[in-house]
Amino acid sequence: MTAASAQWAARSRKSVWHPCTQMKHHETLPLLAVKSGKGVWLYDQDGKRYFDAISSWWTNLFGHANPYIGQALKEQLDTLEHAMLAGCTHEPVVELSESLSDLTGGRLGHCFFGSDGASAIEIALKMSFHFWKNTGYPEKQEFICLEHSYHGETIGALSVTDVVLFKDAYAPLIRNANLVPSPDPRSAEPGETDKDVALRAADRLEGLLKEKADRISAVIVEPLVQCAAGFIMYHPVYLRRVRELCDRYHVHMIADEIAVGMGRTGSFFACDQADIRPDLLCLSKGITGGFLPLSLVMVTDAIYRAFYDDDVTRGFLHSHSYTGNPLACRAALAVLDLFEKDKVIARNRQLSGVMTKALEPVCQHRKVHHFRNKGMIWAFDVDMGAEKQVTFPRRFFQAALRHEVLMRPIGNTVYLMPPYVMTTEEAAWLADRVESVLNEVVGV
Ligand SMILES: *Cc1c(COP(=O)(O)O)cnc(C)c1O
Repeated sequence: MTAASAQWAARSRKSVWHPCTQMKHHETLPLLAVKSGKGVWLYDQDGKRYFDAISSWWTNLFGHANPYIGQALKEQLDTLEHAMLAGCTHEPVVELSESLSDLTGGRLGHCFFGSDGASAIEIALKMSFHFWKNTGYPEKQEFICLEHSYHGETIGALSVTDVVLFKDAYAPLIRNANLVPSPDPRSAEPGETDKDVALRAADRLEGLLKEKADRISAVIVEPLVQCAAGFIMYHPVYLRRVRELCDRYHVHMIADEIAVGMGRTGSFFACDQADIRPDLLCLSKGITGGFLPLSLVMVTDAIYRAFYDDDVTRGFLHSHSYTGNPLACRAALAVLDLFEKDKVIARNRQLSGVMTKALEPVCQHRKVHHFRNKGMIWAFDVDMGAEKQVTFPRRFFQAALRHEVLMRPIGNTVYLMPPYVMTTEEAAWLADRVESVLNEVVGV
């Protein structure tokens, strides 16, 4: 790292408290001082480039400084930057709600807006509980989540999250949800297929519902891929079973598509691959193409109607100042345009195959286990001594930067979640660099 980057990193350490970070580690681990971005690349203050292989925490779908989204925002900036959404409405929020509803064939036809992913989760949990209260089931106050689930880090979202690191420190503040087994294929017994594991996990969910469905408000899942706990990719039959069980036991199904929605797993919504619709669906991260914070919860007409009344207290009592911000909604509309204009789902299908092939040497590496892929997500586990495991993510992060790649492993799981605009040449380049980084960190 050279002069300008080092200076910005030092200033940042003094005044900026970075998220999910032990700040002391940055005494020796330099912050990457980003100056600009273009396409898949980020550039630091000294003009060095880095391939954003994780789409800046999975938000960036169409590249940095994407000109199409940028232009839409410039026009919106000169028209309306913000207006409150209580008592007012505006074009971008109406158009976005209608477009998203269309993508579900109108079955999730009502959109409630928040700002970050975690706020969408809070909304979904409160809304599910309040639905049951309004419809005569006030005792349905508990939630079910999966082992290794991640739904965000506010207090309510942590109650349905199962990541020890994020949760333990705040345990006394949290009202824990009921945990059921993850359909993680890595937990297969000898002879079991991915599908068998998924069905076994669903049976455990049914066991719990049999016992106490009268107290359960909703089951919350990350469809197809449990991302933040280490990219657990599971069989879609699990989602079909959750849907059936939720119907049978009168419990809501909340699909947290904050990470896996917006085409990331190969279909626009991950739930599409199981051919099901949840009762509540949360979106954020990629929805604005990584330009602005925005989240939303899409719900069925049945849920909406349970709040529709003359009585204020039967309405949904939740708001954020920037709810439905017009700039963020305009960015999201530009993102939806790009999906259609550039036939993104079809192109990603092709690109996914190219990338998987290019990663063949990584898949074959003697220290790599459980190489897996779903759409535009790749992940694998790296085997090493327990003592080295602790420092592995930081060592890998630093080695990757030396190879011009931005990556942040989760524990011993390395993953790639690149922007969709990556070319096939860039895919080959990235795969080659991942192999080099791996060789440098754990040996050939
Ligand atoms: C990132 C994430 C969240 C939380 O979103 P924030 O914007 O970080 O609050 C919730 N659920 C899933 C599945 C996520 O990946």
